[in-house]
Amino acid sequence: MTLEIKDLHVSYGGIRALKGISLKVEDGQIVTLIGANGAGKSTTLRALSGLEKVQSGQILYDGADITGIASKEIVRRGLVMVPEGRLIFPDMTVLENLRIGAYLRRDREIAKDIDNVYDLFPRLKERSWQMAGTLSGGEQQMLAVGRALMTHPKILLLDEPSLGLAPLIVRDIFGIIRSLNAQGVTVVLVEQNAKQSLKIADYAYVLEVGSVSIDGPAEELLRDERVIDAYLGKG
Ligand code: ATP
Repeated sequence: MTLEIKDLHVSYGGIRALKGISLKVEDGQIVTLIGANGAGKSTTLRALSGLEKVQSGQILYDGADITGIASKEIVRRGLVMVPEGRLIFPDMTVLENLRIGAYLRRDREIAKDIDNVYDLFPRLKERSWQMAGTLSGGEQQMLAVGRALMTHPKILLLDEPSLGLAPLIVRDIFGIIRSLNAQGVTVVLVEQNAKQSLKIADYAYVLEVGSVSIDGPAEELLRDERVIDAYLGKG
């Protein structure tokens, strides 16, 4: 599945959050969007998910125009977001949260998919009956990704999956993103953690106040002076 955004404009009242963003995601890639706070990264993912009204521009999913389509239909087609802050249901168990991820489906494969998620995240299996609100931050992030997997995503949109997590857990999360990608899931990854995300991505876009300022293969951006100075630090 491919994704293409052409000249996308999104505003919140008078604030122009996206001022003509264009980008491409090829089938099987990990594409990362990096940039400072407020650059428009989350807005881009929300627009792709049908959660923000698009003023102008186009979103093409596998060549079909999905601009303005209802978010539920976008999920049904396989374009699925894991939002920043995870938004799991705290007063439900881990298992109940995973079942909710399958709410759009009517097939009988749900139990098998739950097993697959538990294989990927053994820690969730141990905590199947635990209230999701009492999970650690890293476990909640795993649950949010697991719940998205229950919808059988073709393209996964991940908004800051490493936010607030300890370095070891961040490494786990990035490892999981890699293995999902190796299993055939295309990934769009929004991250503040630019170095880590450039290391696992194929291609990258740098957003600056609502526009793309730099784009290129991720390994080239890792060596780009402008990117190093602004986003990677000297370390
Ligand atoms: P961060 O890394 O801080 O989440 P971001 O790159 O994801 O930043 P966005 O959240 O997309 O940035 O925000 C882009 C711009 O749109 C910002 O100026 C922000 O204040 C504004 N904005 C985002 N959501 C809203 C909203 N619901 N109402 C008004 N303005 C908003």
